[in-house]
Amino acid sequence: MQRHDLIVIGAGPGGYVAAIRAAQLGLDVACIEKEKRLGGTCLRVGCIPSKALLESSERYASAKHHLSDHGVVVSEVGLDLAAMLERKDTIVRGLTQGVAGLLKKNKVTRYEGLGTLVSTGADGTVVKVGDEELVGTHVIVATGSSVSSLPGVEFEGDWIGTSTEALSYAEVPGHLVVIGAGVIGLELGSVWARLGSKVTVLEYMDRILPGMDQELSKQAQKVFTKQGLAFELGVRVTGARRDGDGCVVEAEGRDPLRCDKVLVAVGRRPNTTGLGLDAVGVSTTRRGQIEVDDHFRTNVSGIYAIGDVIRGAMLAHKAEEEGIACVEQIVTGYGHVNYDAIPGIVYTHPEIAEVGKTEEQLKEAGVPYKVGKFPFLANGRARALGDTEGFVKLLAHAETDRLLGAHVLGPRAGDLIAELAVAIEFSASAEDVARSSHAHPTLAEVVKEAALAVDARALHI
Ligand code: FAD
Ligand code: NAD
Repeated sequence: MQRHDLIVIGAGPGGYVAAIRAAQLGLDVACIEKEKRLGGTCLRVGCIPSKALLESSERYASAKHHLSDHGVVVSEVGLDLAAMLERKDTIVRGLTQGVAGLLKKNKVTRYEGLGTLVSTGADGTVVKVGDEELVGTHVIVATGSSVSSLPGVEFEGDWIGTSTEALSYAEVPGHLVVIGAGVIGLELGSVWARLGSKVTVLEYMDRILPGMDQELSKQAQKVFTKQGLAFELGVRVTGARRDGDGCVVEAEGRDPLRCDKVLVAVGRRPNTTGLGLDAVGVSTTRRGQIEVDDHFRTNVSGIYAIGDVIRGAMLAHKAEEEGIACVEQIVTGYGHVNYDAIPGIVYTHPEIAEVGKTEEQLKEAGVPYKVGKFPFLANGRARALGDTEGFVKLLAHAETDRLLGAHVLGPRAGDLIAELAVAIEFSASAEDVARSSHAHPTLAEVVKEAALAVDARALHI
């Protein structure tokens, strides 16, 4: 039986990063992945292919509708969807091969197949992959998540499909109905709307992006509506099925909706089936997530879990941070993730990014706070870009001025949020951000102005 210091099950951003960090710290590491391509949901059918399509479709829409604003005249803008999809696949191929290269470089032993926990004891945990049995002193479960379904909704190819199908429609759907106005619904809804689809988004809650700062999500809805996305809020979908050459979506309190394709984007659930959790006695929560403590330890000694398969936001960088902290905890006895400093980004146009607490969370917790807001419209660089929609909103403690939350709707929000994540990690005050020099003319000056606005001393408004 092959022995390893650490066996990682799953080679997504959580698992492969944990494997690399453990190898850096001197462990003999194995990584088991059931798919041929490494990189998990994120690289294969998540973050990377969706961002490739968001980038391409935005260029198409911008060439079609906005190039002339800059005095650039093009006679005809056409769409070669097959080439756009091929470009996306090439990027995915390159990056997944890159992960294989990284594991090799770090001397991580790779096993291809489904990993199953078999037994555990004083000698370690036995994991089966194919016909082979391995024993690990430590095992990290990083098996990620899969798409959630809805009662009454029958998945059928790309007619009624998930984000995976919506990343590869061979033709632009005439009418796409998206169920769920969360991150996937807005990102992939935007892609197909830009490429010419009529897009209707049905959302159960009374607003889009329900977990985000309300002011931001309300403003975002206005912007996306102007871009052509139609939202129906407070709608509970009860069914979807194929009908003739299209589909029908049924929801409480509205007539059945006919369309060409349906994208189901109502969340994801942890991957634990077939993993052998019962065989070794690992506990799960009522929502099916593997239960862990602050150090990612399950209730079974020597078995840990990280990423989408445990509680918290389903984000690639959250999974990575957990993988690193888990391994460092195992090897050095210290490892920590500051969840208040993990940003979340929606890669629409404009982007939406946030880190730390929302205004609603501060209100609920009874924390006294001040708000500083500044619009992109008053920023020179945003005007030069022709991208003036949105604002930066900072929340700071009313007494200590410590930065508690940052929310950005606007151009390059996903890049701007990095500074604010670092500020929160370093326990900076709004004044610290306000006193830091921000180059002119940059979009980052909106962050500085919002920090000045916390103390009612913004300069350019
Ligand atoms: P995963 O990436 O899901 O990896 C788990 C791996 O384990 C998989 O490769 C799976 O095949 C393997 N596996 C499962 N069970 C077994 C087993 N028993 N044996 C062997 N292998 C097994 N997050 C972001 O931060 N930014 C984004 O822009 C973003 N965009 C997204 C877009 C889409 C369309 C989707 C669906 C998700 C997106 N996410 C994004 C979320 C992100 O993909 C996940 O949060 C992230 O991949 C979680 O990492 P993980 O390592 O926990 O799990
Ligand atoms: P989500 O949780 O972001 O959104 C799901 C939405 O569906 C919610 O707004 C919910 O209220 C709604 N909903 C649930 N049941 C419904 C029903 N019956 N009828 C109508 N609406 C219903 O989930 P998602 O968009 O599927 O994304 C899954 C995960 O992937 C998320 O956790 C997200 O963090 C991650 N992801 C991240 C990114 C990113 O970081 N840019 C991109 C894509 C996905």
